[in-house]
Amino acid sequence: MNELIDALAGITGPAQVLTGADMAPWCRDWTGQYQGQPLAVVRPANRDEVAAILRLASGMRVPVVPVSGNTGLNGGAMAEAAIALSLDRLNRIREIRPEARVAVVEAGVIVDALNTAADPHGLFFPLMFGASGSAMIGGVLSTNAGGANVLRYGNTRDLCLGLEVVLADGRVLDLMQALHKNNSGFDLKDLMIGAEGQLGVITAAVLKLHSLPTHRETAMVAMAALDEAPALLNAIQDASGGAVVAFEFMPRAFIDGHLALFPGAREPFDAPHAVNLLVELAATQAPGLGETLETVLGTWLESGKIADAVIAKSETQRREIWARREAAAEIAFARKPVIDTDIAVPIDAVADFLRQIEPALRAIDPDCQLLSVTHLGDGNIHYTCWPSNNDPQLKLRLRGVIDQMAVDMAGTFSAEHGVGLSKLGAMSRHKNVVALEVMQAIKSALDPLGILNPGKTLPTPKVIRP
Ligand SMILES: Cc1cc2nc3c(=O)[nH]c(=O)nc-3n(C[C@H](O)[C@H](O)[C@H](O)COP(=O)(O)OP(=O)(O)OC[C@H]3O[C@@H](n4cnc5c(N)ncnc54)[C@H](O)[C@@H]3O)c2cc1C
Repeated sequence: MNELIDALAGITGPAQVLTGADMAPWCRDWTGQYQGQPLAVVRPANRDEVAAILRLASGMRVPVVPVSGNTGLNGGAMAEAAIALSLDRLNRIREIRPEARVAVVEAGVIVDALNTAADPHGLFFPLMFGASGSAMIGGVLSTNAGGANVLRYGNTRDLCLGLEVVLADGRVLDLMQALHKNNSGFDLKDLMIGAEGQLGVITAAVLKLHSLPTHRETAMVAMAALDEAPALLNAIQDASGGAVVAFEFMPRAFIDGHLALFPGAREPFDAPHAVNLLVELAATQAPGLGETLETVLGTWLESGKIADAVIAKSETQRREIWARREAAAEIAFARKPVIDTDIAVPIDAVADFLRQIEPALRAIDPDCQLLSVTHLGDGNIHYTCWPSNNDPQLKLRLRGVIDQMAVDMAGTFSAEHGVGLSKLGAMSRHKNVVALEVMQAIKSALDPLGILNPGKTLPTPKVIRP
């Protein structure tokens, strides 16, 4: 053990090797559900130090867990009897090239910090989610994070042009190009994105920036029935030339959960409604955006498909609308025991899923409490179940029902948070057998000693063909 600590200190300097109580922030995840006891936390300053650490770890056969902002929700960054390799000191924004609309950044740059740097150029990095004040570029790339603006800008994968990755043996895979087209063999950049630290450690990236919208219209809309919501989204998209950036669904239970947890919070409408939608449009040149939204909503109000609508009149009102939506993770994890899922189904199957899942869960646990919030524009449902007791078997059954129903509706058990520890069982049960074999083969080729983030993401290679 001392030999390892001394060798790490030889690479980074002793001040950047933490042990004992100093490791506390890396021993627990944001949800409080996962704990780990790393051998040491090491905080390299640059790519070459990362490479030296991986060479050392390979030589000593010591597991390494890359950690960025530690906001992941699936236990993937927890290090148990492993080196926790923190990327937080690789936090330089190397350059912003406004004409090419790219930023060249290191892996430890916090998402909000990138936006602060891009803002003076009239640009932004459009990954919008509740943890953007802490999550880092290496982490959002490694989980292929989604969020509220996927409808318009795509997932993190769609926002990345180039990547620098240190492989398990310390070699540097330099894919740091700012190219929109590059068909030269396998796309190794895309392989590394969403790999959850299984295939290498991301140390830098070339990211796409977009024009900062100068016009935004944000509304809360109450609908009579959720089934009509996709048609409303399409109507607003068609009328606005595709200006919708977010389309989120919050059922009544979510509004109640928000009001209960945040004392100063307000109802979105004068009367309570079952179907509450957050709609946001954004554009750089659109003086008529507000009128367009009002016209569509007015027509739908007259037809009776919309029960009420409130358009934000100020940035303060807009922030209030978004604060409600961005409180989702805090609401879900405020109660324990909790089963949190992030499944996805096709957009036109969301209403059916939500109709059918509640009786299916109550048939198993009549007293469970249920909550959901949905990125309706992309079909990603964060479905939360608070079971009536902490029985592990009960929790497994309830989670299994949610995953199975998503898969049965041509969906996925894992839409945006990644697999980590929490979805290993679902990977075994639901992931295509050949896909698992290919993933294991790639893992073995790139990390033959299995030192990178072991025990996560990929179920143990005991794949049995049906
Ligand atoms: C309040 C809140 C709201 C959230 N909302 C969303 C949301 O809307 N959409 C969404 O997708 N997620 C959301 N998340 C989940 C989380 O923020 C994302 O998964 C985020 O991408 C994690 O980034 P991070 O820097 O914290 O990564 P970490 O938690 O540090 O790591 C995540 C995973 O990536 C690996 N990893 C980290 N850095 C590297 C690296 N440099 N190289 C290789 N592997 C690495 C880790 O080992 C781990 O497996 C939310 C979380 C919170 C707490």
